[in-house]
Amino acid sequence: MEKIRVATFAGPGAPPVIQEVAWPDVPPKAALIQIGACGVCGTDLHILKGHWPKPLPWPFTLGHEIAGVIVEKGAELTADFMGKPLEVGSRIMIPPLMPCGSCHYCVHYPESANKCLTPVYYGRYLGFDKAPHLWGGWAEYVYVDLGDLPGTKIYKLPDDMPLRLGALSEPLTSCLRGFNRATRAGGFRWGDTVVIQGSGPIGILAVAAAQEMGAGRVICVGAPEEPRLALARRFGAEATVDIEEHRTPEERIRRVRDIVGGFGADLVMDCSGHPSAGPEGIEFLRDGGTYVEMGQFTDAGSIQTSWHRICTKDLNVLGSWAFTANDLPLGVDMLDRARDRYPWLEMQTLYPFDADGVGRAVADAMAMRTVKSTIVPWPELAEA
Ligand SMILES: [Zn+2]
Repeated sequence: MEKIRVATFAGPGAPPVIQEVAWPDVPPKAALIQIGACGVCGTDLHILKGHWPKPLPWPFTLGHEIAGVIVEKGAELTADFMGKPLEVGSRIMIPPLMPCGSCHYCVHYPESANKCLTPVYYGRYLGFDKAPHLWGGWAEYVYVDLGDLPGTKIYKLPDDMPLRLGALSEPLTSCLRGFNRATRAGGFRWGDTVVIQGSGPIGILAVAAAQEMGAGRVICVGAPEEPRLALARRFGAEATVDIEEHRTPEERIRRVRDIVGGFGADLVMDCSGHPSAGPEGIEFLRDGGTYVEMGQFTDAGSIQTSWHRICTKDLNVLGSWAFTANDLPLGVDMLDRARDRYPWLEMQTLYPFDADGVGRAVADAMAMRTVKSTIVPWPELAEA
């Protein structure tokens, strides 16, 4: 029986070992996929550095940016997730993490189905009973079975799409979603000026995605010049800021703001995964701008930092400073409509308008003895 060669790692820091696993039987809803190209992702690197926050079933096969060709297929696997027909010879991509489609998040928060409670990972069948393969694209073939794991998803690639190009579809999708999140939050519009923090693969893909989705100007902050920043410019970044040349946050903020001009960027997207990117990137923005945190492992050393949690929890974190002129009538209207529904006046402790009264009003407020110290120069008028 023919064997399949897969690259496995025994654990963080271990070298890859090429192992042979049995050629699997292909049940009715399964497919065996010959891998044309599989990227090395930052997440893979973090896993190999031991940064993954949970125990992993070492040894296993990494690699989740997969594009390949179906070489064997069960009779009942007839279409991809979008209903496109699948045949032996079809070019496909498979994502690393597929929502189950039936848990609380999948059913009630479909926009956040990436937070699925019981997600499906492909490729766990490639040998090793005790080491299910969570990913597995660094191999000659990968195997999926929708009969066993119905949440598994396959996406057909165009017949003439090079598999190398197809292997970029998974990381690019992360960028598209980031900009769509900003659009839905009202924070990204046609013609906006965008700063991308990071010039790794996600940063470069974000430079392209920003332009395709309507950005007017794109600036990329990262390093090193070769090959990364040079490529960012070839992808359409009008300017790049080299963090090895501008070594302090203050220098980088000044440089970016010089390039952007005006009041700052409309949107900053952190694709750097660097712990200090957030506070720095916020200063690239104009007031009222939007910040998107894409760094999956923003601080791998202390994984619970708030910037990392904003990303992994897929949160909308919104700043809200005071109000605009159009907001004030809302406050007046609510007090009027709800005047009898809440004990508004119990908030207030009244003080007369004299030096002692004003002094006590302030002192009691500072000492939290009152909820709302309120000065009434004309007591009859206050009650009128
Ligand atoms: Zn789910």
